[in-house]
Amino acid sequence: MSARVLVLGGSFAGLTAALSVRSRLGSDVDVTVVSAADRFVFNPSLIWMPFGRRGRTDVSFPLAPTFARRKVNFVHGAATYVDPEAHRVETTEGNLDYDYLVIATGYRNDLDVVPGMHETSTITTLADAERTGEAWRRFLDEPGDVVIGATQRASCFGAAYEFLFNTSYQLRRAGLHGKVRLTYVTAEPYAGHFGIDGMPGARTLMKLFARKEGIALETGQAMSEIRPDAVVLADGRELGYRFAMIVPPFRGQDFLAKTPGLVDAGGYVPVRPTYQTERWDDVYAVGIAAAVPVPWTTAIPTGVPKTGFPTEQQAHVAAKNIVDQVRGRAPSTAREFARIPALCIMDAGNNGVAMIADHMLPPRRAAIMVPGPQNHLAKVAFEKYSLAKMRAGLVRLP
Ligand SMILES: Cc1cc2nc3c(=O)[nH]c(=O)nc-3n(C[C@H](O)[C@H](O)[C@H](O)COP(=O)(O)OP(=O)(O)OC[C@H]3O[C@@H](n4cnc5c(N)ncnc54)[C@H](O)[C@@H]3O)c2cc1C
Repeated sequence: MSARVLVLGGSFAGLTAALSVRSRLGSDVDVTVVSAADRFVFNPSLIWMPFGRRGRTDVSFPLAPTFARRKVNFVHGAATYVDPEAHRVETTEGNLDYDYLVIATGYRNDLDVVPGMHETSTITTLADAERTGEAWRRFLDEPGDVVIGATQRASCFGAAYEFLFNTSYQLRRAGLHGKVRLTYVTAEPYAGHFGIDGMPGARTLMKLFARKEGIALETGQAMSEIRPDAVVLADGRELGYRFAMIVPPFRGQDFLAKTPGLVDAGGYVPVRPTYQTERWDDVYAVGIAAAVPVPWTTAIPTGVPKTGFPTEQQAHVAAKNIVDQVRGRAPSTAREFARIPALCIMDAGNNGVAMIADHMLPPRRAAIMVPGPQNHLAKVAFEKYSLAKMRAGLVRLP
């Protein structure tokens, strides 16, 4: 009987892991993906949706045809319980047995972080980005001050910065630039920390960008409440707004916590550098679902962003190790998250910054930030290329 590989999640991590295993093992393996979403969503484009620059179908595609083409079984449903001893996963569509399991169920918003966050606009899911578009259109009818931010324990700072600079660009287009106050409030100890302890020159560059765009920076701030008209900081100050977009922290999916010993306090799965779980050799976790300890402390807690490039790398590492195990060998590929290269383009509407480093987290030997308008075009090209690559299932392309 062929080895059975079961993958939970069909996004960057799950789609890559499933198709990487399929391409490496051919017909020697039976691959099944269970995904709560029936579409792949290219999250990096969500920053553009509220401004009407992208719609739902521009940034997503249906998963079923991609998996069918690559002979991967696809189940549209949610996993509800993992039983590593019985090698079984319970799902809303029935139970599935496996020989190797890959957990790639990503994140959910942790909206309990601050009172009022449940009612506040954010862009961290497709539905959130659509709702934020409605708020933006109401704002254009009745403009006022704007607050963009990321709460304590947030990790997705890149998206917050991209949205901030895109907002500034859109304010200019709407003739509102300089007429309304634009504030960035963040848990980061300084602008340009990004949750990765910064990059050479990042602090200066972000300050320069902010000054040029007339953005007030409130760094090292925790929020105590988000009211419909004001963000209340822990020090008691109130930042009034007519439009706000706040990035919350993420958590792992709740069902994983039902399995004793599988997840940490954040709901993420602790893994070894092979992406096998700490406890079970035949259970892997990749992408946002995999735990990454924060290697430093900041006055206000921040998380580490788990971006697309390391996610795809982790998925390939797990796939190679599953191939080893299927072939009767010990897993031979190991790549710690911190040592994976960082490649990121931060868009600013018609400008941007490319960030390239040899390692996601310090110590780094090489790291560079390149600002300039070419980065907006590079981000659009990255979007088109990534969506085409994922849709075609050509996950082994760079
Ligand atoms: C707004 C935003 C902007 C970003 N911008 C960038 C960027 O510019 N560059 C970059 O590199 N990265 C960016 N990222 C990060 C990038 O999106 C993540 O690295 C990537 O989404 C991680 O993929 P993942 O598969 O691990 O998790 P996710 O994308 O969270 O996918 C998890 C999948 O699991 C499914 N799932 C959840 N629960 C279950 C369940 N119980 N059973 C079955 N399936 C389940 C979900 O439906 C989803 O399909 C951004 C993220 C956000 C939110």
